[in-house]
Amino acid sequence: MGFLAGKRALIVGVASERSIAWGIAQAMAREGASLAFTYQTERLGERVRDMAAQTGSSICLPLDVARDDDIQGMYTVLAGNWNTVDIIVHSVAFAPREQLAGSYLDSVTREGFQIAHDISSYSFAALAKYGRQLLSPSSALLTLSYLGAVRSIPNYNVMGPAKASLEANVRFMAAELGATGTRVNAISAGPIKTLAAAGIGGFRAMLQQVATTTPIRRNVTIEDVGNAAAFLCSDLAAGITGEILYVDGGYSRVGMSL
Ligand code: NAD
Repeated sequence: MGFLAGKRALIVGVASERSIAWGIAQAMAREGASLAFTYQTERLGERVRDMAAQTGSSICLPLDVARDDDIQGMYTVLAGNWNTVDIIVHSVAFAPREQLAGSYLDSVTREGFQIAHDISSYSFAALAKYGRQLLSPSSALLTLSYLGAVRSIPNYNVMGPAKASLEANVRFMAAELGATGTRVNAISAGPIKTLAAAGIGGFRAMLQQVATTTPIRRNVTIEDVGNAAAFLCSDLAAGITGEILYVDGGYSRVGMSL
């Protein structure tokens, strides 16, 4: 029996088989969780439905996290299938492409800043705000962050402040929801080639640089992140909340590599 047997997990953020959310979904399904998925657009819906079916899930709902009525509508339909939810995975980020290349101050705009923070940070709080009635007494929320939250990284630009905001969200949400049995954590993943990451300027060079200098001498995979996510959202991690767990092969721990 897997260590997530009997758990119900809502997975937000699958767009392709390279998605980190897909690595998480596969690990959670392997450990016995029942899954529900969302998809951002109808164009992605068919693919996500097929992928959901591979995990034995037939619950696949449309959701644009920029819209509160979408979030509320998604939970209304989900509540018709499940009376409680044990795990919510938020694996979502977005900034307009022109924000993610070159000089931070040249590229950042008021609108770009607002969009990045809305989709990449506020939406995590919104998923908890509108979904909290459904949360079971030993539930776990998880989001995905990146080193750019705490260090400046070339081209990551406005996503750095957005991830810093997301990590603060983790701490505030953990403090508030702990009393009702809900834990809130983030995984700060090393770079992985996904649709979202492909929009970051110089991403291929970043992958190469990390692979040669990281202690484990390779980039992490969606399987690495999925396994850590399954653990963090399981009762094995019952004492862990408000945490940012680095799944980056140790890259963030090294001060210099010669
Ligand atoms: P991805 O492109 O596979 O996933 C991003 C997801 O965000 C997609 O499913 C997309 O549909 C969804 N999304 C964007 N805007 C949305 C909206 N308005 N409503 C609903 N969904 C929306 O890329 P990924 O790399 O798997 O990204 C998942 C998370 O992991 C992001 O938070 C990203 O910042 C984080 N992350 C990625 C890396 C990396 O190198 N790939 C590293 C660290 C953290």
